[in-house]
Amino acid sequence: MQSPNNLSLLLLYGRACLEELHLDEAREVFTRALEQDPDQTDAMLGIAKVSFMEGDTSGAAVRAERVLFLEPSNAQAHLLLSRVYLSEHDRNKAIEHFDRAAQIDGTMSDPALERELGRTARDARKTAPAPAPEPANQEAPLPGGVDADEFFDDPFDDPPYDWRPETFYAPGDPERSRVTFADVGGMEELKEEIRLKITYPLQFPDLYKAYGRKTGGGILIYGPPGCGKTLILRAVAGEVPCNYLAVGLHEIFDPYFGSTERNLHQIFETARANAPCVLVFDDLDSLAQDRRQIRESQMRNLVNQFLHEMDGIRSENQRILVIGATNQPWALDPAFRRPGRFDQAIFVPPPDAPARAQIIELFAKDKPISNFDNAALIEATNGFSGADLKWVFDRAAELALSAAIHSGQPVPITLELLLAVAKAHEPTTQTWFEGVRTHEQQAAPDSIFNDMRKFLNAPSNSKKER
Ligand code: ATP
Repeated sequence: MQSPNNLSLLLLYGRACLEELHLDEAREVFTRALEQDPDQTDAMLGIAKVSFMEGDTSGAAVRAERVLFLEPSNAQAHLLLSRVYLSEHDRNKAIEHFDRAAQIDGTMSDPALERELGRTARDARKTAPAPAPEPANQEAPLPGGVDADEFFDDPFDDPPYDWRPETFYAPGDPERSRVTFADVGGMEELKEEIRLKITYPLQFPDLYKAYGRKTGGGILIYGPPGCGKTLILRAVAGEVPCNYLAVGLHEIFDPYFGSTERNLHQIFETARANAPCVLVFDDLDSLAQDRRQIRESQMRNLVNQFLHEMDGIRSENQRILVIGATNQPWALDPAFRRPGRFDQAIFVPPPDAPARAQIIELFAKDKPISNFDNAALIEATNGFSGADLKWVFDRAAELALSAAIHSGQPVPITLELLLAVAKAHEPTTQTWFEGVRTHEQQAAPDSIFNDMRKFLNAPSNSKKER
């Protein structure tokens, strides 16, 4: 990586990692970019965003301020600072930076932040000075018309509270993910289960009534990293014809005592008020930890609250589907797996040959690939996760691109190149399978993991663990 062009590649790659929430990788890539150019503001801002997503708000603020020192009109740095201040409950400062970003970049729009601040980028562009914080009774309406007064009846409404979800999409929302099930290779059982629980009931309500079938419930998706759990959660937004609410951990955790449970309650309240709704939790293990392993009472309260909310879904409203994803199913509190909560567990293994064929086809689409023989690559990538396959294509593209830059001619991505890259790559799921064996020996048998056990015990799979 010596040519100046590779700095651009690194930045592109870092941004892609950030988008996919591969935070460690994003940090590493941006750090490599900074090694080449210590004043590279995009890389600095990339690391600031990673810090923010990891909950290190002061680290994020310091880096964003440094970006503004080097480049005072960097709208993205102002936006990030707005988020930092909002998370630290300094609404005035948050609005000040939000307005500054909107004034610098006339095309800027950040609906999630706008919802939280109760202020649009257009307002900000009209008024140069930052306004005072909005009084509570002039808050923007909650999505789907949730009445703020409703919250006065619950135990969490003192003081008045204005939580807004970052990722809430109604059907037809132009910002809603365009990723659909067609973009996810394999996982046919899971796709059908999601359709059965939320899509078909909305399409055929009379049929469901006639057969006495209920809508919604809880599905737990578990399996090794990189096998598409997050991807399918995003695809649900593009697939299901109802409201969609995805919750980031940073939206729930709050250092103030009691606030975390209250945030979680508001999330479920919002889903209930907007039913039918799919409510999605990625990294479920961070929220639903086994209480026997928890020391802090605050965390235990959160788990109790979560269990309580899941019961509410069962008793009050059948039109909410909660989908939780984890790669550490053994870390969950067993109470979550009781009937009516996450009673359905679906194992997402590394893709089998037909699923790899689909994924390879997806990744090969729109790329300058010559001599392409799917079968050889499918065979060579036995045991690879979807993320491993993506890496193979990205790496091969990077190498072909670099050759094209140096030769001044288009260089196609060949099967030989893809095979060579695949051969040099160890499937990243191996460590996970090793960990599973240890947990299997220590943990009490749990029928929910039957599918995973079956997969591990199948002779054709034991060699993938190598
Ligand atoms: P983790 O447990 O670490 O969160 P994950 O199972 O959620 O991992 P993803 O983040 O969804 O994995 O996958 C990473 C990337 O790998 C996806 O963004 C996508 O590019 C690719 N990928 C993984 N599985 C698939 C798949 N089944 N079809 C298409 N692409 C996939």
